[in-house]
Amino acid sequence: MHQIRSYVEGRWHLADGGWATLTDPCSEEAIAQCSSRGISFEAALQYAREVGRPALRAMTLGERAGLLAAMSAALLAHRDELIALSLRNTGATRKDAKFDIDGGIYSLSHYAQLGEAMGSRRFMNDGDGEALGRSARFWGQHVLLPREGVAVHINAFNFPVWGFAEKAACALLVGMPVISKPATSSAWVTERAVECIVESAALPVGAFSLICGSTGNLLDLLGPQDVLAFTGSASTAERLRSKANLLAASTRVNIEADSLNAAVLGPGVEQGCESWAVFLRDIVLEMTQKSGQKCTAVRRILVPVERMDEVQHALGERLAEIAVGNPVSSAVGMGPLSSAAQLDEALSGVARLAESCSIVHGTGRRIDGLENPVGKGYFLGPTLLRAADGRRAGDVHEHEVFGPVATLLPYSGSAAEAAELVGLGMGSLVTSLYSNDREFIEQFVLAGGASCGRLYIASDKVAGQLPGSGVAMPQVLHGGPGRAGGGEELGGTRGMALYQQRVALTGDRALIERIVGVR
Ligand code: NAP
Repeated sequence: MHQIRSYVEGRWHLADGGWATLTDPCSEEAIAQCSSRGISFEAALQYAREVGRPALRAMTLGERAGLLAAMSAALLAHRDELIALSLRNTGATRKDAKFDIDGGIYSLSHYAQLGEAMGSRRFMNDGDGEALGRSARFWGQHVLLPREGVAVHINAFNFPVWGFAEKAACALLVGMPVISKPATSSAWVTERAVECIVESAALPVGAFSLICGSTGNLLDLLGPQDVLAFTGSASTAERLRSKANLLAASTRVNIEADSLNAAVLGPGVEQGCESWAVFLRDIVLEMTQKSGQKCTAVRRILVPVERMDEVQHALGERLAEIAVGNPVSSAVGMGPLSSAAQLDEALSGVARLAESCSIVHGTGRRIDGLENPVGKGYFLGPTLLRAADGRRAGDVHEHEVFGPVATLLPYSGSAAEAAELVGLGMGSLVTSLYSNDREFIEQFVLAGGASCGRLYIASDKVAGQLPGSGVAMPQVLHGGPGRAGGGEELGGTRGMALYQQRVALTGDRALIERIVGVR
């Protein structure tokens, strides 16, 4: 059986026991083992600090951009192999695996382009300088310097490549070494992706380390200049962000957590118009892509009350076309959930929602998969629920079911009510609006925009270009307030801010302008 290794202190580490078992989500057979036992986390951290950091900091932004381009190229060169491994390790379909792997490749190359444009600079300026005294001699200028520590990244199971790549892109470009931990259940894919990068010699030693398995006492060792960026469940996030040493040292912590993303069908989006077609396409995509195991998946669908039957019928028809089964079959449109634990949680989550809503599509129970042995596999078909009252919908505004599950919620058609219902989710990563009514959209932005990190506004004018509301693009912010964790990633250079210290330089103008490179 494959034994997943870690990469620390510039070499591969095979654990000396303490193995967790990974299973094939279709056959339920054990396929790999994962453990980090035997790693000295003190030594791993010290190596990143003392070997990786100076190597990165000796480089210009343009040179670090070259590292990202090489990482991206290394993943691209092994794309097919990574896709095949993803099918086996995570149960993803080929399309789902590409979504993850191509997302990682693209994020790295996007940041490579941003960095390349910064050329020979070693840090970034923040805005323009300004006079602070009676004359223009006493001058102030904000700069963004790389933090002096190590960036520790902890990722969720659902994006084994994109997850580590998008975080690493920002930290490495700024000049911080990275220690990255994938979720155990999908660590095989991440291990292989990192192996491809290491084999290509894309990075200086110590710049990137990988811990597969427990992080041991690593987080206890972090201090004021380090960064912890976490993606995963709200419950784990709460435990990690409240660690005493992180609070005492004001260690920067970024959290990307649960989200009850809403899609809002605006009034007047009738059958036959492009926004209607995009609405149906997006909902089906967001419910079924990666079997609904996406932080940006749509969980709540707000529909004008008089159109609930029509939407339920149209979605039911489309969801019925999705074949659920073993992703090795080309007929299959949706694979299993990634592990027995994820299936159990999703099933109990559906039962929780069904206490106050009706299941109108699907069974809410495990099913057998197409071209897969009977009784095996962690399969749950697309499951659509319906609430009678948008406000009194039980746990729909409280509980994220991390699977192909969403709930239809009626509302009056007013933007204010839509914003109120979206806000009951206590903060989301993305809200999608489907409307050609400018007033409705403007009212929603003002009333409900601040409850989410991204607003995806779908209208007839852009229908042909929309990628789906769940696509996190490197140009655009990923993160959201409240339940979504309060974090910010990506968004072009905004994503680098987590790893930078904003410093106000004040003094003689000529000196400061020389430091910041204006003259
Ligand atoms: P999880 O159980 O919270 O695990 C997330 C990561 O934390 C894993 O790598 C896990 O490692 C690690 N971890 C758990 N306990 C830890 C501890 N005490 N110290 C250090 N690391 C620890 O979440 P998940 O099941 O992987 O992912 C599903 C959740 O992630 C969903 O709720 C989803 O909404 C959220 N998510 C959010 C985003 C976003 O961008 N907002 C993206 C993807 C997923 P092990 O696997 O080894 O336990």
